[in-house]
Amino acid sequence: KAKAKGFGSYALFEVSMIEQSIAKTRITNELKLAIERQEFRVYFQPVIDLQTGETIGAEALIRWQSPRGMISPGVFIPAAEDSGLILQIGNWVLRESCQQIANKLKAGWRSDFDVHVNVSVRQMIQSDFYEQLVQILQETGLPPHNLTLEITESCLVTQSEVVASLIKRVRQLGVSIAIDDFGTGYSSLAYLHQFDFDYLKIDQSFIARMLENIQDEAIVSAIISMASGFKVLLVGEGVETELQANRLRELGCQRVQGYFFGRPAPLESWPE
Ligand code: C2E
Ligand code: MG
Ligand code: MG
Ligand code: MG
Repeated sequence: KAKAKGFGSYALFEVSMIEQSIAKTRITNELKLAIERQEFRVYFQPVIDLQTGETIGAEALIRWQSPRGMISPGVFIPAAEDSGLILQIGNWVLRESCQQIANKLKAGWRSDFDVHVNVSVRQMIQSDFYEQLVQILQETGLPPHNLTLEITESCLVTQSEVVASLIKRVRQLGVSIAIDDFGTGYSSLAYLHQFDFDYLKIDQSFIARMLENIQDEAIVSAIISMASGFKVLLVGEGVETELQANRLRELGCQRVQGYFFGRPAPLESWPE
């Protein structure tokens, strides 16, 4: 009996491995086609200055307009990372975001407008990432001080030496660095402080629960008071209500983004 059961679960395991690898191959092929067919778009979500209420910048968020409908980056970015296609896709997002914002700056948008672009660790540790970045800035004409690269905490932990030296060079260019989704990993601000960064983004999960759960509010409040000693700007993510925005302002958070202020959208549909 036990043997049969063991065999059964072994067989099941094999099937699911094969299925997984078929699914991976399929999505990889679809992503290659999507690159060829130029099915990716960049949407922008406004970032708001909590003191003035003005839009001070935007986060670029990729969208895949596939023949089957819109596919979320949460689904295809991990597959793109696995297959290495993130290098091509990430380079495209960076160039496209810089170009679109550079055009708006030329058309008179505020000169301190700050565009945030998400960068995967695999993309960032490529030997020529820095050269690609410099080239994109030159070709699009976006001033480096208008660009921020968003990286995750895990990226700093797993590749700390390569990433630390890259961050240094990138910041010397005038490009800023943001730590994304802070609070979801296991690193402390004291540890992260060894890296030079400009923005700390408080993960949306804490903000979603902040007003109902005293522990989440305590975490948000602790992050904000620690960061104020580090000269970094705080961005609260996923703000969906006015009450959340008000509370974050009271706690000393400088910037926010979230559905309450604006959903990610193509720049053409932004107010001028
Ligand atoms: P992220 O960088 O933390 O981006 C924030 C995510 O929260 C976005 O999801 C955004 O649409 C969503 N969001 C914004 N405001 C609210 C809100 O008020 N409520 C809720 N519930 N959600 C909100 P999205 O666009 O699906 O992106 C998911 C993740 O995919 C991003 O998380 C980022 O890690 C990754 N990603 C997106 N674009 C790129 C890209 O161009 N390159 C790379 N490497 N990763 C990307
Ligand atoms: Mg981000
Ligand atoms: Mg985030
Ligand atoms: Mg996230």
